Amino acid sequence: MPFSLLKYGLNKDYPFEKNADLPAPSALKQHYDVVIIGAGGHGVATAYYLAKYHGITNVAVLEKGYLGGGNTARNTAVIRSNYLTSEGVKFYSESVKLFQGLSNEFDFNIMYSRRGQLTLAHTDAAIRGFRQRTEVNKHFGGKTELIDPQQIRELVPSLNMNPADQPVLAGLWHIDGATARHDAVAWGYAKGATQRGVELHQLTEVTGVDVEKGKVTGVQTNRGKVSCGCVVQAVAGHSSIVAGMAGIRMPITTYPLQAMVTQPVKPFLDPLVSSPALHCYVQQTGRGELVFGGGSDPYPLYNTRSTMDLKESLLAHAVELFPFMANMRLMRQWAGLTDMTSDYSPIMGLSPVDNYYLDAGWGTWGFKSTPICGKTMAELVATGKVPELIAPFAMSRFDTFRQVNEMGATAASH
Ligand SMILES: Cc1cc2nc3c(=O)[nH]c(=O)nc-3n(C[C@H](O)[C@H](O)[C@H](O)COP(=O)(O)OP(=O)(O)OC[C@H]3O[C@@H](n4cnc5c(N)ncnc54)[C@H](O)[C@@H]3O)c2cc1C
Repeated sequence: MPFSLLKYGLNKDYPFEKNADLPAPSALKQHYDVVIIGAGGHGVATAYYLAKYHGITNVAVLEKGYLGGGNTARNTAVIRSNYLTSEGVKFYSESVKLFQGLSNEFDFNIMYSRRGQLTLAHTDAAIRGFRQRTEVNKHFGGKTELIDPQQIRELVPSLNMNPADQPVLAGLWHIDGATARHDAVAWGYAKGATQRGVELHQLTEVTGVDVEKGKVTGVQTNRGKVSCGCVVQAVAGHSSIVAGMAGIRMPITTYPLQAMVTQPVKPFLDPLVSSPALHCYVQQTGRGELVFGGGSDPYPLYNTRSTMDLKESLLAHAVELFPFMANMRLMRQWAGLTDMTSDYSPIMGLSPVDNYYLDAGWGTWGFKSTPICGKTMAELVATGKVPELIAPFAMSRFDTFRQVNEMGATAASH
């Protein structure tokens, strides 16, 4: 529990200081050692670890909107590490470990809630895939096991075991499945970074990238030009557009991804429940609302509108899983932009332009990687060496046919 919560929870004299959390915006300097494009969780986490572990503070985080207003504010906050490949399991496991300590590290409650994640198998083929994931997870110390229908009934008594005539045959139970308050993660990192001297400039859009003799030298913004030693691009659903400014072509296609939330009801669902076959996952928030999500929209598009098609198909499946939900009211529906790679893994590390670093391709699964991504990207910038943990996610893997295929472990589970 964060110390300040104990200290000030019952005290009416909370020492509020104006601008204490995030310093007021200043003028842009002419030069920074590091420019980070995008103040989502990834951008501010990178800035935080640069300052904290490497003493690099002449850093500007440039954000075209507001802090955490991109996919960081739109995701459904699923945190887990039960992926399929050894590269994926190692990477996401480190992130989950960091997440578990973040509230204490920030002295700021990110509302981390470990409640386990249950993925349902409706076919023999799915069970075979789950067996493989269980073994890979266990090999790297992950807490994942295959469970039978009786164990599923005990974990989630309200679940329909024969939704849409697709009986639940088994489940992948991942005890480390969790959620956290996504905005708080961005606020905590931003606060820690700016208190160490990093500048966060909101309403500052990067409109061009200056490259000379194959090396990045600066960026152009709606507030003028800035020169810099290096650039980290962390813009989630805008990766192809921003990388294009530096002349880099990304192996990415961008799709909208929608989610929705109901009115609050009494707590009844502790684990996160996901059915890849029904393209649907459900979780109950601390306030009692039910959050639903599924797969990305089936067409490439730069648009964050909500659609009736998705509402109908997603909720039909959700009601199959939990029939009593048919009587509930939906409160909100929203969308974000997801940059999808062909192997459902991210692109992290070096780019064809010297000193221009990529943090991209986070599709539907990048919130859970925020801490480890920030930490490893900061290490890369500070040392110039690609950390072992992210080496498999280099963009060059698409040229050398060394894809890290996580399609079976991503889909509707996020
Ligand atoms: C509906 C939905 C549900 C999801 N659910 C999950 C989930 O349950 N679990 C999970 O792990 N992941 C999930 N994701 C994915 C996750 O949200 C993202 O992968 C993650 O938030 C990416 O973080 P980020 O910091 O890279 O991006 P963002 O938070 O999007 O930040 C990028 C920032 O870059 C800024 N930007 C863009 N272009 C420019 C420019 N030219 N100049 C300056 N700034 C710029 C944007 O304004 C934005 O604020 C979900 C995504 C969506 C849309």
